[in-house]
Amino acid sequence: MILSSFHLLKFFILTFLTFACFGKPHRYQNRCLEHDNHHNTEEMLAALDYIHAQCPDITHIYDLPLRSTENRPLRVIIFSDQPKIHEPLEPEFKYVANMHGNEVVGRELLLRLAEYLCQEYQNQNEQIQNLVDNTRIHLMPSMNPDGWEIAAEYAWNTTQDLAFSDISTMMKEYGAKDWIMGRANANDIDLNRNFPNLDKFIYAYNHHSHHKNNHLDMETFRLLLKDHDCMKKPYQIETVAVAFWIMKSPFVLSANLHNGDLVANYPYDTSENNHKQYSGSPDDYLFRQLAEAYSYAHKQMSSPGQRCDNEHFKDGITNGAAWYPVCGGMQDFNYLASNCFELTFELGCDKFPPGKELKSLWDDNQHSLIQYMMKTHIGIKGLIRNEEGESISNAGIKIYHIKDGELNYIDHDVKSNLDGDYYRLLPDGLYAIEVNSLGYKKAIQYVTVQNQINQVNAQRVDFVLKQATMEEINRQEVMKKYWK
Ligand SMILES: [Zn+2]
Repeated sequence: MILSSFHLLKFFILTFLTFACFGKPHRYQNRCLEHDNHHNTEEMLAALDYIHAQCPDITHIYDLPLRSTENRPLRVIIFSDQPKIHEPLEPEFKYVANMHGNEVVGRELLLRLAEYLCQEYQNQNEQIQNLVDNTRIHLMPSMNPDGWEIAAEYAWNTTQDLAFSDISTMMKEYGAKDWIMGRANANDIDLNRNFPNLDKFIYAYNHHSHHKNNHLDMETFRLLLKDHDCMKKPYQIETVAVAFWIMKSPFVLSANLHNGDLVANYPYDTSENNHKQYSGSPDDYLFRQLAEAYSYAHKQMSSPGQRCDNEHFKDGITNGAAWYPVCGGMQDFNYLASNCFELTFELGCDKFPPGKELKSLWDDNQHSLIQYMMKTHIGIKGLIRNEEGESISNAGIKIYHIKDGELNYIDHDVKSNLDGDYYRLLPDGLYAIEVNSLGYKKAIQYVTVQNQINQVNAQRVDFVLKQATMEEINRQEVMKKYWK
């Protein structure tokens, strides 16, 4: 009897607590997500569930089909007005954090960002509602959950003499100080050196008059299945899962969140000879603008002066290879294997700061995280169809920048998605857009791009392709064989 009363009391307490977390009809109360401490894997997954329960109509949770080496889920939360589907003409965005397991600020910021998007959407914050309604946003707080646990456990085991009462207090007051422990995955492989090194193809192709600078899928598959990465290590399950996710999803823009410095890093991450030197991509000007979108909106990243060690980054941005060359990074893989443009943001000198510092780190980054997502909507987008109104997928979209009466090819084509929709991030300027698809005549349109601040719809440029003649199709087939 005493036992059952106890259970009854426990039931009422739990019911009350659950109600306190989930029972809010209008305003979010921040009762369940801790803002001043780190979340271990279990807590991180619970936090995502909690946010989904708060905003079920605009969120969707899914796992990548493969789990981490130690069998932890690689979990993603989506925000959108139709979170479960890709809507044609609605671009997709992603943030990936905690790829290096001991670089943990991005992981906590993405949880906080998810909570913020949910809360502000419900509070009818116009900018957030517009962003969520017109974008499909994927947040992966941890790409390397095993590494996080290794870093946390090592920190706990090496701080026994500091006499923290438990690991949670240690996390909050002290964090983790080791520079390396937990960086790699459970097989001790650095995931940000473990992607297929597509840069080497680009530099090799540059010596030919005809080459390819996008969607290097066949090479990717071959490398993933048979070979080793550029550090001669086997491809890891986390890398394979994320590589296929990148290639299969219609992402337009993305960022990979790290720690250890304070800077926005943009492609390329390697130079031709692997020396430390500036190595811009064909979209160099655009990438610099995207990097500045983050660094300028950040409270400290772009301010002058020395940051973490002796390095000084003008405007808080750097070309990857000019800083230090990295082969097999995820950033360049996105650009060269898919339609997605990715940058890497280093969110602070301290890799695993005390949890009590997370509130001010959120203050530093909140505006940047939002401003960068807004950039998913710069440039142009549209539908590509035939004269019968059917969608044309996999059409190639070439961009020529028109300057001083000259057409300058930006040597990086994007492709249309299954629904025939395409997206091309572009800075302001005059452009010729050329669309090619096998069996159809080439089509060209001229557009002036003038991006507005905080626009949530890129300029619309649709194409209706006309059927090619038999002679033109034969010529296309011959050219296709020639390129192969
Ligand atoms: Zn890192």
